[in-house]
Amino acid sequence: MKKSNNNNFNNMSEFKRTLITTALPYANGPLHIGHLAGVYVPADIYARYLRLKNEDVLLIGGSDEHGVPITLKANNEGVSPQDVVDRFHNIIKESFQQFGISFDIYSRTTSEIHHETASEFFKKLYDEGKFIEKTSEQYYDEENSQFLADRYIVGKCPRCGYERAYGDQCESCGTSLSPTDLINPTSVISGNKPVLKETKHWYLPLDQYEPWLKQWILEDHKEWKPNVYGQCKSWLDSGLQPRAVTRDLNWGVPVPLEDTPGKVLYVWFDAPIGYISATRELTAEWEKYWKDPETRLLHFIGKDNIVFHCIIFPSMLKAEGTFNLPDNVPANEFLNLENDKISTSRNWAVWLHEYLEDFPGKEDVLKYVLTANAPETKDNDFTWKDFQSRNNNELVAVLGNFVNRTLVLANKYFHGIVPLKGELKGYDTEILKGINDIKNEIEKSLDLFRFREAQKNAMDLARLGNKYLADEEPWKIIKTDPERVKTIINICLQITANLTVILEPFLPFSMEKLRDFLNFEKQSWERSGSDELLSPGHKINKPELLFEKIEDDVIEAQLQKLLRTREANLSKESTAKKVKKNIDFEEFGLMDIRVGTILEAEKMPKAKKLLQLKIDTGIDTRTVISGIAEYYEPEDLIGRQVSIVVNLESKKLRGVESRGMILCAEDPDGTLSIVSPDKKMENGSEIR
Ligand SMILES: [Zn+2]
Repeated sequence: MKKSNNNNFNNMSEFKRTLITTALPYANGPLHIGHLAGVYVPADIYARYLRLKNEDVLLIGGSDEHGVPITLKANNEGVSPQDVVDRFHNIIKESFQQFGISFDIYSRTTSEIHHETASEFFKKLYDEGKFIEKTSEQYYDEENSQFLADRYIVGKCPRCGYERAYGDQCESCGTSLSPTDLINPTSVISGNKPVLKETKHWYLPLDQYEPWLKQWILEDHKEWKPNVYGQCKSWLDSGLQPRAVTRDLNWGVPVPLEDTPGKVLYVWFDAPIGYISATRELTAEWEKYWKDPETRLLHFIGKDNIVFHCIIFPSMLKAEGTFNLPDNVPANEFLNLENDKISTSRNWAVWLHEYLEDFPGKEDVLKYVLTANAPETKDNDFTWKDFQSRNNNELVAVLGNFVNRTLVLANKYFHGIVPLKGELKGYDTEILKGINDIKNEIEKSLDLFRFREAQKNAMDLARLGNKYLADEEPWKIIKTDPERVKTIINICLQITANLTVILEPFLPFSMEKLRDFLNFEKQSWERSGSDELLSPGHKINKPELLFEKIEDDVIEAQLQKLLRTREANLSKESTAKKVKKNIDFEEFGLMDIRVGTILEAEKMPKAKKLLQLKIDTGIDTRTVISGIAEYYEPEDLIGRQVSIVVNLESKKLRGVESRGMILCAEDPDGTLSIVSPDKKMENGSEIR
């Protein structure tokens, strides 16, 4: 028996079972399409696929119910944190169920079994001396007698100057921070200036795991998706620091040690243990799924969770010593909505519970569109127009049309009885071979977690069927050559029966319907590819429509809804920053702003937000560092004209001297947009 740590897809067959975990959604808001596309839809497809293959697989999910955003929300609403998580856990769980994400269990981290599991995990690491203990000075709100962890404290970002950076991260430049880095910190609860007070915490010394992680990820898991591997490499290259696993908070899993009142496990320590607790809650055989090296562990997550699932959680598991490590972490990038970042606070999202209300019976349509557009290798965009056209042009016009024509013809010509195939022509054999080829393609794609490709392959079978029908035109020869039509309809019915198998992971509700039309039992994956799924003489039912067209007014209503959100946001956001104090014209004239052209652009190593630009200012060619890396691809910037302040004191950033600043407009959410002249201007032209 070979240890699982060193595997890739080629020797995947040595695993006996698969444990699939899905990122725990945070129970402070409902689910939106970004969550679905990034994590739950692909995980569900994969789990359904393995189940069809009769493999032993568990799909694990649950709500993450601890952490500061939840206590803050509770404070704001004047309710208890438990009230907040109860409300959202139920909404989330219910929408998952309705939408058909086939969890074997959907649990939650406020459950007793989770508290017990997380405490035991911590205690074992503590007893074995895997933590380091450190006393440090941390900010404390004297009025509320509370330490100010993470988002309980805001202040000016020392990197970029953003005024409302959080104690754990600046959302403007993305730098991860600790509260003591903030300039002019204030308490979010009281608005007071906090004082420093000594407090003791436990840290996981990630630096000690660095050499092991480098080997395990960078050498042994080169097959991980490039976006995942790349992010891990950049974390490992910039060096790991010990990471606190406890917090001064009154909401969470209490630190299971003597004399630690007011201390809980840090939410990022307890949340991934939630996968273990949920498995434990589900089955007495949970250890088999977590500890037997013949179990394959897969974490489905979004890109914001890569560091936790590839570096921190594996280090915790390694420290504990008896658990399997993930074999793969197929993380997705982000999904945008109508060309704008999905945002809970701006209500810019398609909420799953609202979709389910607005589009009853159309769970599969959303699943289909999210997979067709999955942000597998880069961020991607969801638009309602695309949703409509994929439904109308693909599900209705390709799949629905083929299935409907086949079933209608079979009923019309043969009273719904599957006819016997006659002698096959070369073309028939080719089509039948096509079924098996498509099945093989789907398998290959799914083994590489390429869900959009796999779904496209599966739809190709319906395309093949349509082409076959169009080429053979049975309606033209039914009078003259009814024997030939028997063969054609038999083949079309075999294709239809195969569709119920290969599309089952992608369109589970619709394939159940289609099986009803065919009067056909659910088949195992292995049976697909066969040209004899339906036996001659088998009686099928009268079909109904598998999918229905979505009309323009339905899409228009959704677009209007978004428009109203945008307007509401604008009126809220007219809390635009206050006007600065007046200056006279002379003072204004001191700023020297010119038109320049970007000659070169590259990402700065180890700085997610920064681009290094070479700019022709008309006066000279100079280097400028700009915090726009999140909003522009370097290659798209080359040749672009920008506005540059050329007489700003130069500044060293990450060892590179930045001379000048390019002007950007900034949205309230921090989105940056370069300000350019609206027609081509000479470099060096003054902007006044
Ligand atoms: Zn910042």
